[in-house]
Order: sequence, then C-alpha cells, then structure tokens
Amino acid sequence: MIDRFGREISYLRISITDRCNLRCFYCMPPHPEHLCHADILTYEEIVRTAEAAASLGITKIRITGGEPLVRRDCAELIAMLKAIPGIRTVAMTTNGILLADCLPALCRAGLDAVNISIDTVQEARWRAVTRSDRPMPDWQSLLNRCVQSGLRTKVNAVLMKETRGDWMVLAALAESLTVDVRFIEQMPIGRGAVSESECAGEVLRTLRTRWPDLHPASDEEKSSPARYYESAGLTGRIGLIAPMTHRFCESCNRIRLTSTGQLKPCLSYETGTDLRELLRAGASDGELREVMCRCIDKKPKQHCFADPTEAAEHRTMNRIGG
Ligand code: SAM
Ligand code: SF4
Repeated sequence: MIDRFGREISYLRISITDRCNLRCFYCMPPHPEHLCHADILTYEEIVRTAEAAASLGITKIRITGGEPLVRRDCAELIAMLKAIPGIRTVAMTTNGILLADCLPALCRAGLDAVNISIDTVQEARWRAVTRSDRPMPDWQSLLNRCVQSGLRTKVNAVLMKETRGDWMVLAALAESLTVDVRFIEQMPIGRGAVSESECAGEVLRTLRTRWPDLHPASDEEKSSPARYYESAGLTGRIGLIAPMTHRFCESCNRIRLTSTGQLKPCLSYETGTDLRELLRAGASDGELREVMCRCIDKKPKQHCFADPTEAAEHRTMNRIGG
C-alpha cells in the first residue's frame, strides 16, 4: 500500500509482549506495571492481523517486545507468520538472553533474521545498563551460532555516554563475523526522554581512528533507517541509525502493532487504531483491511522527536515495541 506521501508500506513490526527479563534503564522503569494477559493479543489475533496486513502489501514482519522470547511458544507464532502468503521475511529483535536455547526451534520455524541488542560487552556495565544480575551472554559465541544457523544477524547498540568506551569493541564484532553492528541514537521515548544520547556522527569519527577507510556501503537499502559503512578490515558492516540528527522519515516503510493490538503508523506519536476491539467484535476481513488502510493513510510525514506535540508518544518502549 502506498501512503499519502508516496511511501510504500511493506514492513510490520509486531510487539508480542510488554514483559521482559531485563530492565534497560533507557527503555523501562525498574518496577514496571505489566499489562494483564487478557489485554494482549492472542497468537490467533496476531496472525489474523498479519494476514490482513499481507493482503495490503506487507512482505516483512519483525517480532519484538518487551522481550519476545519470554512469551511461550514464540517459535510457533513465527511458523504461522511464515506460512502467510505474501510474507517473505520474518525477523526478530531480542536481548539475546534466551536466544541460544530457542535457536533450533526458531530456525525450524523459519526465522530469517535476528537483531540482538548488545549495548556493551563489559559485564559490569551490561549489568548496570540492564539493571540485571544475570551473567552476561557470551556475545561472540551467540553471534557465531546465529550466523552458523543461517540467520542474517545484526547487533543493535543504543548510544549513551555510559558505553562510549565500548564502541570500538562492539564494532570489532564485525571483524571476523558477518554481522552488521548498528549504533542507534537514543530516542526520547520513555526513560530515553530523560537521559541523553551520544551522536552517531561521533561514533563514525571514533571508529575511523581504527578503520580509517570506513566508507558508505555500495548496497545501501533505501528503506532502512541505517546508513551503512564498510571497511577492508571488517567482514560485516557498521550501521548508524540517527533519528535525532538525521531524519529518515521520507523513506519509512513501516507500521507497528502493539501487544494490545493498537496499529501505530509512527513510533513517535501515541495515536493509532485499536484493532483488538475490532477483532474481538467479530469484524470481517474486509472491515479489518479497511480500518488498517485508514490508519496507514494517517501516517504522519515525519516523526516529532525534535518538536514534541501533544500527540507525542509517552509510553515506554517495551509497551510500544521498539
Ligand atoms: N527486548 C528486545 C531487545 O532489547 O532487543 C526487543 C524490544 S526492545 C524495546 C527493541 C529495541 O529498542 C532494542 O534494540 C532497544 O535497545 C531499543 N530501544 C529501547 N528504548 C530505546 C530508546 N529510548 N531509544 C532507542 N532505542 C531504544
Ligand atoms: Fe527489555 Fe529490550 Fe527494553 Fe532492554 S530494551 S528492557 S531488553 S525490552
């Protein structure tokens, strides 16, 4: 479906839970109130929504949360989504904690790609950022397993002053592994609104002290929010996602479904359409599609992070689905 600004909407991000086994300080409060189970879409409701979305031109789905792998039988959902005609790619964003154990089932279900959030490789810092006393996963080995399993694998690192010292080590993960390491400016959503982001341009300047030939990648994906850079010293690429310093809205191809069934045309606005009520009231496929079309038609031209309006999103990222 083409929106009123000429953007082809082909990517749906689905949050399947607000719950998480970590408490990253920029994402959620230390003691969050959880949504009750009855408020969360069932897998059948998610699949029905995804089917309607596919009939409107969605070809790629990403499962996120909260932490998607804390929801039971997540692999079964992946298999159901992969079976939808028109859906070419199903990907997942995860904090990696449960990934090693779930990997075989996810691969059998047909998962195509995984983004793992790794803000730091330093254990004490990781525990501080995630407010967790779990042991930090062995990132190198987890990434290696993902790549060996045939998953397109990316690392997401949110930029914050506390992890400046990690940039080089994180980027070096792309030295021997075919993973893209992406640095993301912190967005003023939830707790991110009160802690400051580092700027993506600064990362590039720092990384060029070790890989001076870092240059824009030749195969840039137009709709990706990331700008990718390559170096002869790296197997994977370095990605910079800079919503705060460079808007990428003119090529935005995505919509979001929250765990409670709100269809959101833009991350930065709290506005959207409640599909849960419609699904539970027995709406027909045609009605569902029509409501989704109207919502996509309202997709704003650009995000409002720099100039927050009254309609700006105020929920925490785990509730919206990052
Ligand atoms: N739990 C999973 C994870 O951490 O990958 C999936 C959900 S998490 C909300 C999705 C992504 O959003 C993560 O990469 C996380 O780092 C990012 N995120 C959370 N809050 C953010 C913020 N304020 N600004 C930028 N990215 C944020
Ligand atoms: Fe959990 Fe992901 Fe949010 Fe961290 S960023 S608290 S892992 S949902």
